[in-house]
Amino acid sequence: MSFSSLVSDLTYRNSDRDDLRSQISRGRSYASTAATSVSISGDISSQLHGGYSHPLARSWQAERQLTKSMLIYPLFISDQPDEESLIPSLPGQYRFGLNRLVDFLTPLVAKGLKSVILFGVPIAPGAKDALGTAADDPQGPVIQSIRLLRRTFPDLFIVADVCLCEYTSHGHCGILRDDGSLNNSLSVDRISDVAMAYADAGAHCVAPSDMNDGRIRAIKLKLIEAGIAHQVVLMSYAAKFSGCLYGPFRDAAGSSPSFGDRRCYQLPPGGRGLARRAIVRDINEGADVIMVKPASQYLDIISDAKELGKDLPVAAYQVSGEYAMIHAAAKAGVFDLKAMAFESTEGILRAGATIVISYFTPEFLDWLSN
Ligand SMILES: [Zn+2]
Repeated sequence: MSFSSLVSDLTYRNSDRDDLRSQISRGRSYASTAATSVSISGDISSQLHGGYSHPLARSWQAERQLTKSMLIYPLFISDQPDEESLIPSLPGQYRFGLNRLVDFLTPLVAKGLKSVILFGVPIAPGAKDALGTAADDPQGPVIQSIRLLRRTFPDLFIVADVCLCEYTSHGHCGILRDDGSLNNSLSVDRISDVAMAYADAGAHCVAPSDMNDGRIRAIKLKLIEAGIAHQVVLMSYAAKFSGCLYGPFRDAAGSSPSFGDRRCYQLPPGGRGLARRAIVRDINEGADVIMVKPASQYLDIISDAKELGKDLPVAAYQVSGEYAMIHAAAKAGVFDLKAMAFESTEGILRAGATIVISYFTPEFLDWLSN
């Protein structure tokens, strides 16, 4: 029944009676109709405000509430044990050496930090070569910090990013042929070995970001062979789009390619169909979590990932450029930093993600109550 016919129906019924109450009631009906007729298009379902008038009722409208357990904090681990240097293009973010890590993380863990993702940053001269040998060096920063963090913070969930680009002299995400293109099968072999080394060291989750074809299957098979597949999460950077938003990260990790770019293996920004194929492929190859990256620019892809992998958690990486843009605009007075951090992250959840990798994590630990 439409609102206006409901009102006229009530008025009609009331007009049959002539006691005082019915006159008051008729008066009220008329008054409320007159007062609200501007905003009522005719249907009773147009009335929404009551449903979210109270702050708690507003929070019920969100299908997913941002909580501390959804957040993964990216950390850049240098091979210089005492390093603690601010990354100029990532405001408030540092590169840490192994000896600085525990002091930095202790207060964050106390505030409820649940998970970190580790990126190695080899700085020592000669640390990089064509095969990315340093990636799984047992004395390297990632393997050493996995062991240290497992020992020091037993409840912290450790994700290890798996790629070669930080460790290769050419800066590409695999092993190259003579013509400079990626040799897919050699790259997959090498990257799955690196993933195994991190899992062996105690990483709860390995997250290959290289985009080589077939690496999820290769890693899953090696985990099964080693008898540890049941205790390691395999998170795939399934839909990772190329673009300028990784600029500050490359600064932080020192991973710019020395020639060419990564467009042959990262997805073209308009490639929604390609992203869907990559997501389906990685689910079929044994991924436990699907990741979309960058996040805010690809909310449609996050929705696609949630639809295609409805039984899997979907992660979104709010990348360095998204973080740096929000910081720059807030610094220029365009908007409030906290408000924008919430709006952009809640948008990512609304699209379908339940895990957000974010440089805002330390701030969210202060802002969120649970
Ligand atoms: Zn890479």
